[in-house]
Amino acid sequence: MEVKVMQDILGQNDAVAGALRQHLAAAGVYTLNLLGSPGAGKTSLLERTLAVLSGEMRIAVIEGDLFTTKDADRIAKTGVSVVQINTSGGCHLDAPMVEKALTDERLKIPGIDLLIIENVGNLVCPAEFDVGEDEKAVVLSVTEGNDKPMKYPLIFKESALTVINKVDLAPYTDFDVAAAREDIQTIHPGALVLPLSCRTGEGVEDWFAWLRARVKAKREGAGKDD
Ligand code: MG
Ligand code: ZN
Repeated sequence: MEVKVMQDILGQNDAVAGALRQHLAAAGVYTLNLLGSPGAGKTSLLERTLAVLSGEMRIAVIEGDLFTTKDADRIAKTGVSVVQINTSGGCHLDAPMVEKALTDERLKIPGIDLLIIENVGNLVCPAEFDVGEDEKAVVLSVTEGNDKPMKYPLIFKESALTVINKVDLAPYTDFDVAAAREDIQTIHPGALVLPLSCRTGEGVEDWFAWLRARVKAKREGAGKDD
């Protein structure tokens, strides 16, 4: 019975997500679903990213949060369009929530090149819910420990890219970046792993380059040339 209910929920979610993906693709928008634990540095990574890329492309952000607007307030300070989704305690975003957020006129979807959806901080169920994104990326910080990829394999399997954040703190922890890379690539052969530090800026250029390439490919696919 419970399995059946869960299948129905995921089936309805996937139908909405599929329609969203078509809508976003037609508008030439590359959409990234950004995942990770609370405190991994998802919002810090966005702040770094927007400071550089918002001068090169049109970006919008959807912020998922349990109750507050703290992250959306941080994003709004960068001048990028941001819409907040409060899940009222719900531990993940789903496609109908994103569909509703996209009706907000601040997002102006036909004029956007890159849409980043910061999911609720959680390594478990956000991995199961398609929200209409092109790809998922997960932020793992060195302070979380080396055991996380093997303990939460689905999120690493689903994510095209793992950002290993806070590498400046690695010397003060037992975290082994090479071992984490190996575990992630065992779970997800071909996945890209980018160690970086939002605090010092080390490695962030590789992340920007990855995003630029994604956005460019999407725009060319949609025949956008502006
Ligand atoms: Mg955040
Ligand atoms: Zn959940």
